[in-house]
Formats: sequence, structure tokens, C-alpha cells
Amino acid sequence: MTQSLFISDLHLSEDTPHIEQGLTKFLKQEGGIDRLFLLGDIFEAWIGDDDDSPLAQRFADTMKRIADSGTQIYFTRGNRDFLVGENYLDQFGATLLGDSVCIEVAGESTLLMHGDLLCSDDVDYLAFRAIAHNPQWQAEMLSKSLDERRALAKQLRAMSKEAASNKAEDIMDVNDDTVRSVMAEHGVTRLIHGHTHRPCRHPLQNAERIVLGDWNKTGWCLREQGTSLELCEFSL
Ligand code: MN
Repeated sequence: MTQSLFISDLHLSEDTPHIEQGLTKFLKQEGGIDRLFLLGDIFEAWIGDDDDSPLAQRFADTMKRIADSGTQIYFTRGNRDFLVGENYLDQFGATLLGDSVCIEVAGESTLLMHGDLLCSDDVDYLAFRAIAHNPQWQAEMLSKSLDERRALAKQLRAMSKEAASNKAEDIMDVNDDTVRSVMAEHGVTRLIHGHTHRPCRHPLQNAERIVLGDWNKTGWCLREQGTSLELCEFSL
């Protein structure tokens, strides 16, 4: 029986020690799981794998312990930590997943995404995303000093918060037509994503969309045990 956990949107930063502690406690309680899926925005910001921040090191140490206990770790980049690369993930043997990946979950072909690409009404964000995913832009960004990148990341976060506060609620959620077409394109009956911070299981026609929750006052996970799937909220 395959046991997996799906989590996303922890938004870890030096300001959130309670979430880091909550994660450690949660993983300890869950015990020996086969697969751990980190579906994006695990970090509030990521300035490059050469970042020497204590947070990056602590998280890698936690994940290394999990990996050493026999858990395979998979990592999807979010809109916050889109610069996470294989150099960092290699520290704990995690597999980097692409923007949309099909795997078998609870006996069904399932699509995994962070979720930002599903919010297709947010055209400003998608325009920024296209720039930020350009290899040339990324190379230029990564050639800057760590201090410069930290300042830029701070600026980007402030701009994104400002933009989000001026956007209508539905723009920040997924577009149903995009969900339908992405699922049809991949021929799946289940979609798991995070990003929107609206944890819920949405029944669709002969299909299901499961939205993971963000970690803040509480934590969220989707737990696969054999053929069962459970979306859980827990205290940190
Ligand atoms: Mn996100």
C-alpha cells in the first residue's frame, strides 16, 4: 500500500519558525511514508541555490532525515520559489518535477501542479512569469550578489502583495475552462494543486480537483493510503 503526503504553500521564511517546527512535528508523527510531494511555495522566496541562509540549510537537513528514512521526495517549483534548482535538491536527493506532471495517485492517473498556471485570468502575473522563467533573465538574476538578490526579492514580494490587494477575488482563483482543458490535455481524472490558499475537494464531471491549503495558523496535507485520499487540516 503506497503512502504519500502532498503539501504546498508553507511560505517558509525566518519570520515563521512555528511553521518549520510544525513541519518537523508533522513529519515525525506521519512516520515512514513512501513519497513526499512538495508542490510549490515551500519557501516565501528563493534567491538561488547558492543562498547560504540558515533557513535553506535547516530545511535541507530536515528533508535529508526524511529521505534517509526511505521516503522519496518530489519538488515542484511555486511562484515564490521558482529559482529552486537541482543543486539544492541534490542535498536531500529530491526529484525536481516540471510545471505539470502525471503520476498515479490512489490508483488513478493524477496531474500535479503548483496551481499558478491555472489562474489564467491573472494576466499581469502570467506576463511576469513568462519573463521570470526566461533562462536569460534567470542567468542574469543569479549572476548578481546574494545581497543584491535579497534586496530584489524583497522588492518583488512587496510588489506582489500590492498587486494582489488590488485584484478581484476571482482573478486570484483558478479559471474553470483552464482546469478543464489542462486535465483533458493530460487525460487525467484528478488534479492536485496548491497556490490559491483555498483548500477544498471539488467534484467535477467524472473527475476531481483537490486544492491543498497554505500553512499559517494550521497546516494542511493530502494523505494517500492505498486507494484512499484524505485532505487534512492539523494544528502546528
Ligand atoms: Mn503560489
